[in-house]
Amino acid sequence: MPPTPPLFAFDNTYARDLKGFYVRWPAEPASKPVWALVNDALAEELGVDPARLRGAEGLAALSGNAEPAGSAPLAQAYAGHQFGGFSPRLGDGRALLLGEVIDRHGRRRDIALKGSGRTPFSRNGDGKCALGPALREYLIGEAMHALGIPSTRALAVVASGDMVRRERALPGAVLTRVAASHLRVGTFEFFAAHQGPQAVEQLANYTLLRHDPALAEHPQPYLALLQAVCARQAALVARWLGVGFIHGVMNTDNMTLSGETIDYGPCAFLEAYDPDTVFSSIDTHGRYAYGNQGEIAQWNLARFAETLLPLIDPEQARAVELATAVITAFPQQLAAEWLTVMRAKLGLASEQNPAKTTVDRENGQKSAALDRALAEDFLALLHARRLDFTLAFRALYDHATGQPAPLARLFAADDGEFAAWQQRWQARQPQRDAALLETMRRANPWLIARNHRVEEALAAASEHFDLEPCRQLLAALRAPCTENPEHAAYAEPAPAAVTANYRTFCGT
Ligand code: AMP
Ligand code: MG
Repeated sequence: MPPTPPLFAFDNTYARDLKGFYVRWPAEPASKPVWALVNDALAEELGVDPARLRGAEGLAALSGNAEPAGSAPLAQAYAGHQFGGFSPRLGDGRALLLGEVIDRHGRRRDIALKGSGRTPFSRNGDGKCALGPALREYLIGEAMHALGIPSTRALAVVASGDMVRRERALPGAVLTRVAASHLRVGTFEFFAAHQGPQAVEQLANYTLLRHDPALAEHPQPYLALLQAVCARQAALVARWLGVGFIHGVMNTDNMTLSGETIDYGPCAFLEAYDPDTVFSSIDTHGRYAYGNQGEIAQWNLARFAETLLPLIDPEQARAVELATAVITAFPQQLAAEWLTVMRAKLGLASEQNPAKTTVDRENGQKSAALDRALAEDFLALLHARRLDFTLAFRALYDHATGQPAPLARLFAADDGEFAAWQQRWQARQPQRDAALLETMRRANPWLIARNHRVEEALAAASEHFDLEPCRQLLAALRAPCTENPEHAAYAEPAPAAVTANYRTFCGT
């Protein structure tokens, strides 16, 4: 009989190629591990047999009780700007990278534990994670993935059987996180601050190989890396804005170079549209408000650029000039991505062909300005009327498919301002073919992870170890753009009073 292959086909480049960038470290055992949720579809994608994963071997591996064969558990070093201030030493204080696997699509994915105990980077923390926040990360990550937004995802949550001390004692958990990589802006900041250009170069070369192999031959590879990371962040933040997502804690240690959303702590979705919305209990100045996320992304990217300066050009002034040009272009890049998102939401056709002539270009700019104004004006209407962001955009889609009722329910019959807007909107795109309607449908979710539904599901799990509400919510979140009467309760906004008092906590 051939020997049984390992559960995960690990191939650990981070451990092999970046010695000195981490500390090899074992997980702390969990006293009575029990599965809370297992992501069978993701397991299959990773080439892991879900039935085998759900067995004793998988439970031991994903609770921290046994090192899975081929893994090389390690805590990564990183720093980060937290709420604008530099913390030179953060690192994996409660997480461990087990290793990497190549998934069914040929993509390299990190497999990491979160909540697996103290590490040399724990400072005063206990290295643990409570069940509620672990499940929140699972739910929101899956919701984002289903919305087509790049995200790290959860492979499983195991209840550890141990209590963790927060304001009160809470059940503990270990989350298994799957990511394109865990390279962050903060990883570069750590090595720029403590070790200098040679280490940063090694890290940058690794990042290029991992995320932008085509750029390795570029005449200016590090500047090209900066551009690629900026482009991914512009696309990501525009998509967040398109679904009303507020990350809540966009510190540089929570910004990936892969362009995936990471670290679902105090995140939440907007209900009534207001760009100043903040839900996070620790974001007292609104630094990470919904409408600030673009500016903050640019600020974080500037911190990334600073770490690359010595690699971009030995002459500092020249390096600064080149990097600054990339960072200053970010707002236009974001605006272009945002316009693409908003055109899809409004059901407006984008220009098909690249502009060839000056006239083409001028026309393109004119139509972009018109479409941008249409989007901004709709948002202003929602803001002034405190209308639900998700419902309002979905109502536009319904209207476009010949169902005017939802839109008519949201706006008063004698709302002249809205009527004027609606006329402009209809004039801009009098006809839509099936493809345009499908784009519009997918851009306007019928259902998002409503904050009160998420809280309900987490409370049931945390208080009574009842995972059924989480499972049901997950099932609804998996098909967010398809209207489904069975999931109608999940699509409804919370009562306004609930949303007004809603606070999310960092989940540490
Ligand atoms: P986060 O707020 O989850 O992005 O974490 C920021 C930093 O604090 C990271 O270095 C984490 O590893 C660390 N950290 C957060 N919670 C804990 C904890 N309970 N124990 C140890 N370190 C933690
Ligand atoms: Mg973090």
